[in-house]
Amino acid sequence: MKKISLLGSTGSIGTQTLDVVKHHPERFRIVGLSAGSNVDLLIEQANAFKPAVVCLSSKELADSARLHMPAGTTVLFGEEGLIETAAGTDADTVVTAIVGSRGLSATLAAIEAGKSIGLANKETLVTAGHIVMEQAKRKGVKILPIDSEHSALFQCMNGESRKAIGKITITASGGSFRDHTREQLQGVTVQEALNHPNWSMGAKITIDSATMVNKGLEVIEAKWLFDLSYDQIEVVIHPESIIHSFVEFVDHSIIAQMGMPDMRVPIQYALTYPERDETPTEPLNLAKLGALRFREMDYDRFPALRLAFDCGRLGRSAPAVFNAANEIAVARFLKGEIEFLGIESILERVVYAHEVCDMNDLQTIAEVDQWARRLAGSI
Ligand code: NAD
Ligand code: MG
Repeated sequence: MKKISLLGSTGSIGTQTLDVVKHHPERFRIVGLSAGSNVDLLIEQANAFKPAVVCLSSKELADSARLHMPAGTTVLFGEEGLIETAAGTDADTVVTAIVGSRGLSATLAAIEAGKSIGLANKETLVTAGHIVMEQAKRKGVKILPIDSEHSALFQCMNGESRKAIGKITITASGGSFRDHTREQLQGVTVQEALNHPNWSMGAKITIDSATMVNKGLEVIEAKWLFDLSYDQIEVVIHPESIIHSFVEFVDHSIIAQMGMPDMRVPIQYALTYPERDETPTEPLNLAKLGALRFREMDYDRFPALRLAFDCGRLGRSAPAVFNAANEIAVARFLKGEIEFLGIESILERVVYAHEVCDMNDLQTIAEVDQWARRLAGSI
């Protein structure tokens, strides 16, 4: 029986993780749940899964939830509560499905406590990949990717030696505006941007897919997860999202991982690895599909991806600044404060205004992150 603490249980990845758990009650048990502010759903989940602890983002929310919790469930709140949910239970695995770099300290606490990490929260690796990976190595903790592309790459690399890997290619659906020209992006609405062709996901990552920032974050995520150089990482547009990514080995043999777009497959693989188990996902029928298409990435059409590569190559504080500025820009777009194309201009202005520095501790990371957020909020 694997015990799981799930951070961000009310979101898209969170609810799908609980679906995976529900399909295999003999395999998994939930011991911790955390949510931001969706009290009703957290109460429902707590009554269904009876975890030892749950956590909400504020004391008020926690107080309002307490009365409705099952006996034996402790209600925590805030940053401290989140760290306790990540590190203080008897979970073997912590699934990080919170959105944004605020998941960092809880992820680090879970690693320090020796928990395996099922990693969905890519912003933590983009912000502090050097610290997260170093700490995981020191503690002998596994970081198992949940992001579909990284799960695919992980599966393709299974049993292969690092030296055998030539390069990797991350596939990109192209997001909501794949076939728009830059002119056509003027004045697109929030509703249009949230309408992803292949995946149903949280709002932030759906906007990130439309700007191609999501692919940029994934490039940096892949660099850290698989210890690659940026010259070994490519991105290709693949509108069907059937090939989730592929690895080219030094002999030019390519191994790809395929399947219908359903996050429950990579979520479950991170939880059952190295084993596999049945899923309720629809099987892939290639004959029915007929064809798969691929198109070279257009970095002029999607300049935020080029900026992400540049920040990745610069390293040090640059990726954290890119990520923090993006979190604010996306939140502002979702609130209707700025235009869709304003996300890119904010990113560029914040990144160019930043003087890259070393970030060897959480304090410096928090300062850099706050600086980028303030500037992104004021443009
Ligand atoms: P979401 O917005 O649907 O869910 C986010 C979760 O974080 C919710 O449970 C929310 O309550 C919680 N949260 C928000 N603010 C919080 C706070 N202040 N304190 C504690 N918890 C808080 O997001 P999502 O789409 O599930 O994405 C989660 C992460 O997984 C992101 O990093 C995303 O990039 C990554 N990811 C998502 C998908 C997907 O298909 N949705 C795929 C790959 C990777
Ligand atoms: Mg992905």
